[in-house]
Amino acid sequence: MILIDGKKAAAELRDKLKHEVTGLKAKYNKVPGLTVILIGDLTPSQIYVRNKEKSANEVGLKSEVIKYPDSVEEKTVLEKIEELNKDETVSGILVQLPLPKHIDKQKVIETILPSKDVDGFHPINVGNLSSGYESSVPCTPLGCYLLIKKVEPNLNGKKAVIVGRSNLNGKPMSQLLLKENCTVTVTHSKTKDLKAECLEADIIVAAVGIPELVKGDWVKKDTIVIDVGINKTDKGIVGDVDFDEVSKNAKALTPVPGGVGPMTIACLLKNTIECFKRSQI
Ligand code: NAD
Repeated sequence: MILIDGKKAAAELRDKLKHEVTGLKAKYNKVPGLTVILIGDLTPSQIYVRNKEKSANEVGLKSEVIKYPDSVEEKTVLEKIEELNKDETVSGILVQLPLPKHIDKQKVIETILPSKDVDGFHPINVGNLSSGYESSVPCTPLGCYLLIKKVEPNLNGKKAVIVGRSNLNGKPMSQLLLKENCTVTVTHSKTKDLKAECLEADIIVAAVGIPELVKGDWVKKDTIVIDVGINKTDKGIVGDVDFDEVSKNAKALTPVPGGVGPMTIACLLKNTIECFKRSQI
């Protein structure tokens, strides 16, 4: 079985991006800039944002984190986004989710200019992705896609089963694989026989949030299995796939941690650079 090393793939991607930033700096005499807005003091969000900032600096991006307390007014955040939209040194804007209840997430997402939406959540980017046009693609599914392509460059005609239909993961993942000519099935909590669906798959992407949902006997030989899940359990962090069981059957599998997670951050940097390049045309 191929253990898909997300840490290594992310390091390789960061290296490539670092070279690209050096080239962009030489060409334009400026570097792409990423601004992250962090609201509140949720520990996981703080850790994610710190990692994003560290990685951005590592590849040579200009990075900035704007912090607000939990009590910040929605208006203040929207005005800051408007200001960043106009700032030419800012190529990408990311508002770390989740947000406090009094702030309307969709309003925040839609205030970010689509051309600076490095998370790919703006409805214009969602529409562009599903229409097959150029767009920012949500970072986690983009990372999954790049890992799958490393194992199997030609996905023509493969049967892909996506477990979970979230806007963040399942839906954009299905669009990326459709674009690669896969036959895609998107399953969810109301799917009648998930095991039977998975047994048909050449590729499984599990993004559910249920520890070890995908079992060994749900996976046929030669299946590529990508585990997006991050679940805290008594035995530590586990994915949505039963790693010990599935690794006996699958052709390739991502570990948790060390699989999809590191690629998510590297893809945020990639998206920032793409936004910068599009803004220079
Ligand atoms: P979500 O809660 O928004 O969506 C979960 C989806 O799973 C829903 O579409 C739901 O219909 C489906 N589902 C629920 N129960 C099911 C069942 N029994 N069978 C089939 N489908 C079922 O979750 P999300 O935001 O997509 O996140 C999913 C997981 O991925 C979580 O563990 C989250 O922590 C993790 N995650 C990881 C990364 C990363 O970088 N690795 C990034 C984002 C999310």
